[in-house]
Amino acid sequence: MQLGEQPAFTGRLAREHELVQAMIAVHCRDAHGSRTLCASCAEIARYADQRLARCPFGAEKPTCAKCSVHCYRPDMRERVRQVMRSSGPKMLLYHPWLAFLHEVVDVRRRTPELPRKRAAR
Ligand code: SF4
Ligand SMILES: [Zn+2]
Repeated sequence: MQLGEQPAFTGRLAREHELVQAMIAVHCRDAHGSRTLCASCAEIARYADQRLARCPFGAEKPTCAKCSVHCYRPDMRERVRQVMRSSGPKMLLYHPWLAFLHEVVDVRRRTPELPRKRAAR
């Protein structure tokens, strides 16, 4: 994916994209007072989209918190963690449907094996 290019997500990945971007927006508005994403949060948003687009699990992707790969760079992982910590408790208020689906559907999904491990059997 080139810089500035918008990945086209479908199905579960589209919802995951929507959830993560919404959490970053909530965090930015509350922590940085920005109506649109500040430069730092925009960088996190782009990075999260890039990781999502390249996730080796594809449509079977688990939540990143339950992932066995953890493809995020350590510094970006820490920044995303801060975003989740700050925006997570507010998501039921601002985006109840996304928060509900995340808790009820995504968090309960088991972490699948990586596709190439499955293919090697
Ligand atoms: S952390 Fe795991 S689930 Fe999240 S994008 Fe990276 S490989 Fe996929
Ligand atoms: Zn911000």
